[in-house]
Amino acid sequence: MADKRDYYEILGVPKGADADTIKKAYRKLAKKYHPDINPGDKEAEEKFKEINEAYEVLSDPEKRAKYDQFGHAAFDPTAGGGGGFSGFSGFPDFDLGDIGDLFGSFFSGFGGSTQTRRGGPIRGDDIAVKVTLSFEEAVFGVRKDVSYNRIERCSDCSGTGAAKGSRPETCPVCHGTGQRHTTQRLMGISFQSTTTCEQCRGSGKIIRNPCSNCRGTGYVRLTKVISVSIPAGIDDGNRIIQRGLGNEGRNGGPAGDLIIMVSVKKHSIFARDGNDIRCEVPITVTEAILGAEIQVPTLEGSVNFTIPEGTQPGTSFTIKSKGIPYVNSPGRRGDLIFTVNVEIPHGLTNKQKEHIRSFAESCGDHNYAKRSNFFKKMFDKK
Ligand SMILES: [Zn+2]
Ligand SMILES: [Zn+2]
Repeated sequence: MADKRDYYEILGVPKGADADTIKKAYRKLAKKYHPDINPGDKEAEEKFKEINEAYEVLSDPEKRAKYDQFGHAAFDPTAGGGGGFSGFSGFPDFDLGDIGDLFGSFFSGFGGSTQTRRGGPIRGDDIAVKVTLSFEEAVFGVRKDVSYNRIERCSDCSGTGAAKGSRPETCPVCHGTGQRHTTQRLMGISFQSTTTCEQCRGSGKIIRNPCSNCRGTGYVRLTKVISVSIPAGIDDGNRIIQRGLGNEGRNGGPAGDLIIMVSVKKHSIFARDGNDIRCEVPITVTEAILGAEIQVPTLEGSVNFTIPEGTQPGTSFTIKSKGIPYVNSPGRRGDLIFTVNVEIPHGLTNKQKEHIRSFAESCGDHNYAKRSNFFKKMFDKK
């Protein structure tokens, strides 16, 4: 994996090339370096291998996106991360059937097919479902029933696709291999080609009497309901993966995964900040001036908290361990951080206003240190 060439460079296409351009470039090169055209030419064989590898990635939108982001590391099992791809197993298992249509388009009467070899195990698709939680459910964890549609093997026919009392028959054309081999000589070169059997479309089997439940496909779509335990402390945008609960695989391939995408509703007074919870608590001018024992809301009911005399607006206070649990360290919780917002009273009577005025007259500069410093600076002429 040391110094691999860039896949775009190998195919001689620009980075932004569309699928058609990539396909055309691949066909041209694959034709040129095909081992059957260059028998015994090691260099051509290497080239052909390289071309196939590049095409395998660039022709698959998902792999291509990964490659564009991570380069070769996306497929290097030793690089860690990236993951999710099977990677290349040494010499690419190229199958002339795969490029059958390539030859088909150059040499008429070749009966090519674009179908890749069928019959091998195919992993089932992943299924994503969204689950919406209340703020509290996300904080404390919850068990939720999740309903989704899943493709499963048909139980009526046990996945064979054949109606009860009948069985799929071995395809008489390919004798169950799902493939057809043809050899043609052209200009003194023997072209061997493997194509997918058209009679059975590669399955190797013929179903004469299809199962009515799955219409002969062997698979049905079912609505499933599973109970999922959602851990305390989960956040909006987190995913919970349930291995093997996605669509069932084919031909003995493993099932895909069920991916639960968690969405958390906003709370009317609390906001999440990592594992801390933040909120704003309104207090009166009197409480701010004299200090007071106030009620502070937490997710587990309100608690008493004493704010000191002369508390300024916007001051934050912390109540330890009343925040959100850490998903991966049981028992540990964030804090609750509240900020006081001093509310100025409205609609005072004349009498109350008079009290305020006489109170104001009694105040000196030392009662408003911040303000008097500010004006000192403002009028300070250098
Ligand atoms: Zn069936
Ligand atoms: Zn067949």
